[in-house]
Amino acid sequence: MVTAQQTQPDNRRWYAPPANLHTGAVGQKFAFLTVEKHVPEFGFVIRCDCGRSFWKSSTMHIRNGRLKSCGKCNLTGRKRWTPAEDAIISKHAGTLTATKIAAQLEERTASQVTHRAKRLKISLKTHGDNCSWSKYSDHDCELARQLHDEGMAVKLISEKLEIPFHALTSIIYHKRR
Ligand SMILES: [Zn+2]
Repeated sequence: MVTAQQTQPDNRRWYAPPANLHTGAVGQKFAFLTVEKHVPEFGFVIRCDCGRSFWKSSTMHIRNGRLKSCGKCNLTGRKRWTPAEDAIISKHAGTLTATKIAAQLEERTASQVTHRAKRLKISLKTHGDNCSWSKYSDHDCELARQLHDEGMAVKLISEKLEIPFHALTSIIYHKRR
C-alpha cells in the first residue's frame, strides 16, 4: 500500500498535512472565517467575511479562535496603535511598569502594552529604584561604589551600609544594576 506520505514530492514533505485532517470543519463558520472546501494533501480554502479567500494547511488556529479574520481587513475591530501612544510607551519604558503605562493610555491593557513594546523592540524592564525587586536604593549602591573606588575594604562598606557582603560585591562589580 502506498501511503500519502510516500507520494508527496520532496519539497513539500515538511509542509503537506495528512490527507484527512479535520475535514469536519468544512462548511463551518468560525468568527469571520468560513472553511469552504478541503483539497486532500494540499489544505483548506478559507473565506473571510470581507470577501478575501486564502489557503491554510490546517484549520487548527481557525477552530481554536487564534485566527479570526484574514488579517487584511479590520473586521475584528482592533484599535490601531497611534504614534502618540507609541511615544508614551517609549517615554516611560524603563521607569514605569506595563500596568502603569496602560493606565495612561485609553482602553489599553497591560498585556497589550507588553505586546506593543515587543513589536517596537522596546524593553519594559525597570531598573534601580523603579524596579520592585531591588532591595537597596540607588543612593546606597552609588555610595558603595564610590567608597570602594576610594579604596575602602568591601567588608567595611558592608558593615557601614548594612548590606550583606555577597550582595555588596555583586553591586560593586556591576553584576547587578
Ligand atoms: Zn478579511
